[in-house]
Amino acid sequence: MDNIWIEMHEAAEAVLGEKTISEYVTAGEVSAAVRSKSGRIYTGVCIDTCSTLGICAERNAVFNMITNGEYEIDRVLCIPPNEGKGAPCGACRELMVQLMPEKYKDIEIMTDYPNDRVMKLGELTPEWWIG
Ligand SMILES: [Zn+2]
Repeated sequence: MDNIWIEMHEAAEAVLGEKTISEYVTAGEVSAAVRSKSGRIYTGVCIDTCSTLGICAERNAVFNMITNGEYEIDRVLCIPPNEGKGAPCGACRELMVQLMPEKYKDIEIMTDYPNDRVMKLGELTPEWWIG
């Protein structure tokens, strides 16, 4: 495994940890790290609410990247509750595709950290509904 994935995992781990924010909101059960094309790493946690106001960790990390003036994703890593395995949900994939419609297929996604399994977003989402 290359050091960038390890660095991303450490960044995501640093913000991981479920917290009860209020009677209706919890956060941090899942965390994610997004590496932009410039090489900066942005993190995000999932935010769960009693209705549909929350957000996945991956999208929160992408929004953090956008908030900081960067718009191109290089890599995505998520730490789900089942320790390290899983791909981004459809909404997170859709955001990444809309953000980079010409280049999204090259985004690298860590789908199984313990076994160092990386997939391209193009493999997970080969046909876009608009494209
Ligand atoms: Zn998601």
